[in-house]
Amino acid sequence: MEWNKPALNDTHRVLFIGVGHMGNPMAHCLLKAGVDIAVADVNEAALAPFVGQGVATGTQPDALPGDVVITSLPTDQHVREAILGEHGALRGHAGERRIVIDMSSSAPSETQRLAAELAKQNVAMLDAPVSGGVPRAKTGELTTMVGGDAAVLERYRPLLAHMCKNIRHVGAIGAGDTLKALNNFLSAVSMWASSEALLVGARAGLDPQVMVDIWKTSTGRSHAVEVKIPNAVLPRTFDYGFSVGLMAKDLSIAASLSRELNMPAPMLAATEEHYLFAREALGSSADLTRVMTLLETWAHFELSAIPQ
Ligand code: NAD
Repeated sequence: MEWNKPALNDTHRVLFIGVGHMGNPMAHCLLKAGVDIAVADVNEAALAPFVGQGVATGTQPDALPGDVVITSLPTDQHVREAILGEHGALRGHAGERRIVIDMSSSAPSETQRLAAELAKQNVAMLDAPVSGGVPRAKTGELTTMVGGDAAVLERYRPLLAHMCKNIRHVGAIGAGDTLKALNNFLSAVSMWASSEALLVGARAGLDPQVMVDIWKTSTGRSHAVEVKIPNAVLPRTFDYGFSVGLMAKDLSIAASLSRELNMPAPMLAATEEHYLFAREALGSSADLTRVMTLLETWAHFELSAIPQ
């Protein structure tokens, strides 16, 4: 398939859709790098940090320019709406949009379906979900796992490099989404397990700070122990910047995959249940690190705040 490709000396104009926890710092990385961007978000408040910076902003993607459309949206359904919906990026822009790079964590089957529809309009697509959270989004040091045509990735690699330190082609369209969902399975297990371990240890008389310090250099270490717990649980700020609802979504993507493949994955199934429950109990938008407060409620025991 011959894509509507940019000329070698072409400079990209990016339409960035979805500037929440992740999209905001990612779009700012592009801005800092001198990339010409326009920004869309349904929430006016999310657009505010871009106003007065020479950036075209709006709540409707079809009103904004750009040949490269980057999405950082909650789910694949939001991506579909933002691209093909009534005011989606493709409305009235035939020939202008060259590629959609979905940096959300979407379901691989939905990404494949959208990519096939876009191909009919001569628009390429990559799935490039990211890992590293808000801290790495701010420093432009995310990891992205990219699915799609490897040659297309090479064309847009310099653009992604403004936001991502590690860029790896992992397979055909949807492969990035699959890898991302499985990554978050691992991340979800360690967040929940580390919180349980911390609470049991504290109840047994151990100092939570000492436990975390030891685990950081022991075999129990993980991103939860190294980053999420010290930064958002010990000081009781619960502001890591990733919601329990989005984590539950990622686990459902991974668990659906295991079911489609007819493979037993008991830990994955149990982890999905834990987070579906947490989403109900805490509310979808609650910070992921609030899992600790659920455990505390059940234990009738609360950790004291430790400023970091
Ligand atoms: P978020 O909810 O903070 O931001 C999403 C933004 O999209 C919001 O500003 C919302 O108003 C906007 N939006 C929703 N529907 C829209 C539409 N139809 N058109 C335009 N804008 C729309 O979510 P987030 O935490 O930034 O996550 C974005 C994606 O990245 C998700 O898929 C998530 O799973 C993934 N992710 C998040 C993190 C993290 O640490 N927060 C890390 C890695 C990946």
